[in-house]
Order: sequence, then C-alpha cells, then structure tokens
Amino acid sequence: MKRFEEKVVIVTGAGSGLGQAATLQLAEEGAKLVLVDLNETGLKETEEKVLAISPEAEVLLITANVADENAVKHFVDATLEKFGKIDGFFNNAGIEGKQNLTEDFGIEEFRKVVSINLNGVFYGMKYVLKVMKEQGSGSIVNTASVGGIRGVGNQSGYAASKHGVVGLTRNSAIEYGQYGVSIKAIAPGAIMTPMVEGSLRQMGGDNWEEVGKEFVKPNPMRRFGKPEEVGYLVAFLLSNQADFINGVVVPIDGGQSYKY
Ligand code: NAD
Repeated sequence: MKRFEEKVVIVTGAGSGLGQAATLQLAEEGAKLVLVDLNETGLKETEEKVLAISPEAEVLLITANVADENAVKHFVDATLEKFGKIDGFFNNAGIEGKQNLTEDFGIEEFRKVVSINLNGVFYGMKYVLKVMKEQGSGSIVNTASVGGIRGVGNQSGYAASKHGVVGLTRNSAIEYGQYGVSIKAIAPGAIMTPMVEGSLRQMGGDNWEEVGKEFVKPNPMRRFGKPEEVGYLVAFLLSNQADFINGVVVPIDGGQSYKY
C-alpha cells in the first residue's frame, strides 16, 4: 500500500538522522518530496538514497536555515511553485546545544537553540498552515523530544525549546482541526543519530560508546531507538490514516518516559 502517492511532503532537517529516515519511508510510499536542510552535502546524500529506493521520485532540495523566517517563507513558496500544494510537513530540524548547568548555560547558546528549535518550528507552522487551511487538508508533525515532556538536565535551551514545540502543537491543533488540518508532535527518546552521538561525545569524549551503553541501561528496552522506527511513526502520522489524531504528543522512547 502506497499511502503517499500524489502527496507532497516537506521535511526539514532532511539531510541526516530522523529527517532522513522519515524521508526514505515517505519515498518508499510514493511521496513527492521537498527536502530542506542547512547542510547541502547531507541533502544530496538523502536525495541519492531516495533515488535508489524510488528512481522516479520527484525531489526538490532546498538549502535553508529554519531559524530565518524569510528562508522558511521561501521554501514554502518554492513548494507551491513546483508542486502546487502541501499535504504533509515534517517540521523536524533541530539541534541539541552545548550541555551545561542552568547557571552556566550561555545566553547566546540559549538564544541559538531556541531560535532553531522553537522559532524555526513556529515559522514553519505559520507559513504551511496558511496553505493547508486554504486547501482544507493537511497534516503536520513537529519534532519535540522526551526533553519536551520531562526534565532531562543540563539542557536549558533544548528543554525550553522542546516544551515550547509541545505548546505550539497543542495550541494550533485546536485552531486548525476545523479546517481539516491535524497537527501532532513526536517525543523521541534517545535514537541513534549523529545528534545523539554528538551528545554522548559531550558526556564521554572518545569513550562515548561506553557512555552510550550505560546511558541506555535505564531504558525498559535496554537500547537506543533506530531512526527508521521514527520514520515509520512519522509516515503514519502524516498519512490520511491519522487524520483524526490531532494535538497529541507521541513518545517513542521504549517506554522510558513512563518510568518512575
Ligand atoms: P541530526 O543532527 O542527525 O539531524 C538534524 C538535521 O537538522 C541535520 O541535517 C542538520 O543539518 C539540520 N539542521 C540543524 N539546524 C538547522 C537549521 N537551522 N536549519 C535547517 N536545518 C538544520 O539530528 P536528529 O537526531 O535527526 O534530530 C532531528 C530532530 O529530532 C531534532 O529536532 C532533534 O532535537 C529531535 N530529537 C532527536 C532525538 C534523538 O535521539 N536523535 C531525540 C529527541 C528529539
């Protein structure tokens, strides 16, 4: 079953990790793709993987910074120009930032993390929702985090921004349901991507793999999540099968966030 035939989906942060994994699942299911990332090399790598799965796939690559409102407006306009509509939006690009105690958390670092993870998600919703409202259909999946529903520690900027993403999701979901548009968020736990490797390196330097083994011990499933597991979830949430799911924040973390 191809749930995304004739569907147009925008993915931000498509050049790596969760964005790339979701893109590949969407490609498998026939989507026309607009792939956005700051990292042009990452975007090209994702495009190659898409074409390997689906040689006929229509793909538009856009190098852009989601923290720049004009760049976001541009990728939305470019999508309409090429494909004429937006059925799905995986609003996903984000960074972790430098870990530190709250009192030592750099003001510039805080500003940077919030401007990408929160302002960037807001800009994306602002411009995409206008289009989806006019269409009377569409689905948005915002990437929050377990750090958006629980305290993690040493991540003031990340926690503030991801809790903000949850707030934006819930607020807009109740505004746009009446227009046939659903908005959900995902809250991944530790999924093994370059971002998580970077995070483990902040904790353990070259010893990061050992640190990783310790890190997952409290997880009920005793392992990291796989990017493709998030890809399957995102594809479901963006598909018409999930049209009546609105305003939710879905954890994908092996059950860790429910642990006492
Ligand atoms: P990643 O670093 O592998 O990929 C993130 C991608 O976003 C990169 O390609 C990067 O170039 C791009 N990006 C970063 N800043 C950008 C910007 N300003 N504009 C455009 N693109 C930008 O990380 P990932 O693990 O795939 O993370 C994706 C999302 O998932 C992030 O929002 C992250 O916070 C969230 N998340 C990840 C995990 C995890 O365990 N991997 C857990 C919870 C939440």
